Amino acid sequence: MRIDILTLFPQMFQVPFSFGIFKRAIDRKLVSIHLHNIRDYTHDKHHTVDDYPYGGGPGMVLKPEPIFEAVESIKSDIRPEEDVGALPIILLTPQGRLFSQQTAQELSKYSHLILICGHYEGVDERVQEHLVTDEISIGDYVLTGGELPATVVIDAVVRLLPGVLGSETSPLDESHANGLLEYPQYTRPPVYRGWSVPEVLLSGNHAQIAKWRREQVILRTLEHRPDLLDKTNLCLEERQLVERLTSSPKRSQLSLNKEPTE
Ligand code: SAH
Repeated sequence: MRIDILTLFPQMFQVPFSFGIFKRAIDRKLVSIHLHNIRDYTHDKHHTVDDYPYGGGPGMVLKPEPIFEAVESIKSDIRPEEDVGALPIILLTPQGRLFSQQTAQELSKYSHLILICGHYEGVDERVQEHLVTDEISIGDYVLTGGELPATVVIDAVVRLLPGVLGSETSPLDESHANGLLEYPQYTRPPVYRGWSVPEVLLSGNHAQIAKWRREQVILRTLEHRPDLLDKTNLCLEERQLVERLTSSPKRSQLSLNKEPTE
């Protein structure tokens, strides 16, 4: 996958992509990141990227010309075999569709993405209207720029690319991959400060472990994010488990991580 990022602050991307899984993905050429300073696409002496908003109001707005020109320059470098029609041009904005694991999965299918990071008060509306194909928000809060949101999106997408994580199957089990949260994970030692790893995980009985994990997925989602359960297809047995747990007066005592409350 090739990812082009338009930003006023290319240096902000140096650290996040220089470590661990992400660095390995770059070294193995599973992904390439191309940074473009929006300022490089200006033509005036002062390299002006922003201007006052028409109609007044606080802050500065990013001008359309350098952003259009940067995207056009990236597109003009695309090899003919790449399907330009399928090239998402994504603006990071708190007004976009809410980013989720499903969006990450969707974006991971493309071979090329362009991400545009806004700053200050945002971006001239004509960028939204006539240039971008998608607008993404990472949550209902406002940040100073699109660089952290772009990093979040890229990280979530890249770890889904084949070969990026050690085990091909691991992203499938994770929280949100199938609409639910992941089961609790333990590693050695088996007893730490008197707190034991659940017996079943040490049993070596794979069927029992799988059953326990599925129950924990439901239990945990019920405890932390009951809204997710409503949107997920559960089998009859699982639905019955949810009903049993929600009708149990001692529901909190079923939770693994919390001490029973008196
Ligand atoms: N005035 C704008 C907010 C501008 S924030 C408004 O009210 O909608 C400045 C820039 O930060 C935005 O252009 C966007 O690129 C980025 N940004 C801020 N919060 C974001 C979020 N939650 N998701 C994605 N991008 C965000």
